[in-house]
Amino acid sequence: MANLLRDLLYPFTRPTPPASRRATGFFTDTTLCIGCKACEVACKQWNQLPSDGFNFTANSYDNTAQLSATTWRHVKFLEQFPPSDSAPPSPPDMNLDLRSLLMEAQNGRWLMMSDVCKHCSAAPCQMACPTGAIIHNEFDDVYIQNDICNGCGYCVAACPFGVISRSAFDGHAHKCTLCYDRQRDDLMPACAKACPTESIRFGPLDELHEHAVGRLEEVKARGFKGARLYGDRASDTYSALGAFFLLLDEPSRYGLPDDPDTPQRHMIGDYIRGAAGTLIWVAILAIAVIARAPG
Ligand code: SF4
Ligand code: SF4
Ligand code: SF4
Repeated sequence: MANLLRDLLYPFTRPTPPASRRATGFFTDTTLCIGCKACEVACKQWNQLPSDGFNFTANSYDNTAQLSATTWRHVKFLEQFPPSDSAPPSPPDMNLDLRSLLMEAQNGRWLMMSDVCKHCSAAPCQMACPTGAIIHNEFDDVYIQNDICNGCGYCVAACPFGVISRSAFDGHAHKCTLCYDRQRDDLMPACAKACPTESIRFGPLDELHEHAVGRLEEVKARGFKGARLYGDRASDTYSALGAFFLLLDEPSRYGLPDDPDTPQRHMIGDYIRGAAGTLIWVAILAIAVIARAPG
């Protein structure tokens, strides 16, 4: 009898969560990225994610195009060159030496950026999830428990970075897990392990912040005045990011929101209207019951 009762109650019990560990995250230094896409491939390999095909996007050499339920790391290729009609190509100079090549005026540049879930410290995707499938795990990283995800897609609409999407294979929402399975075994996430230039740095967040400040000073001293850290601290409208970046230009140039906003900040009116509607219905019901009461 006791066993039967225990089995019946088991689905409603909450197991004790693992003890908190030191918060971990990523510092992605985009100035070091060479666009090799080893991180993208390593992520797919470790997590056994299917290929997305080789599509010609017609606007970049990048053929992955975006993050998706089957692409949890995406290396963006951002070409900053003047329009081809404004700078006609000069005939090739066959007598170039190394010095003149190095001194050659730069007309444009490539920006590379390995994008990923930002593991927001106050994550709108988590706030929007009605089933509690999205949690902050013991490393303070944002993790989707797929057996609890019902595929409603509320998290997809809530993420201001366009990170999460639903899979056509199982209908559930998927994104970077920050290699939770590897972290539990004291292994570095697969993408950071594969990066040959250490553009992706993984580690305790406090150490990453310290390193990032030093790196920003170094890059600025080399003449990149537009360099900045993105997401290293909270703003008035958004929490700090567990995966933050060193950028060389405006965030919008990288397809990131300049000032990310938490959608739930704008829902206070909806909450008030919902509560007022409920109160009105309760009042109508009470009046109806009193009016029908005998005597
Ligand atoms: S970036 Fe988007 S998916 Fe990732 S934790 Fe933040 S809100 Fe959630
Ligand atoms: S941490 Fe793991 S799951 Fe996340 S992008 Fe890197 S390899 Fe993929
Ligand atoms: S592995 Fe490193 S260098 Fe290569 S694309 Fe990814 S972040 Fe850039």
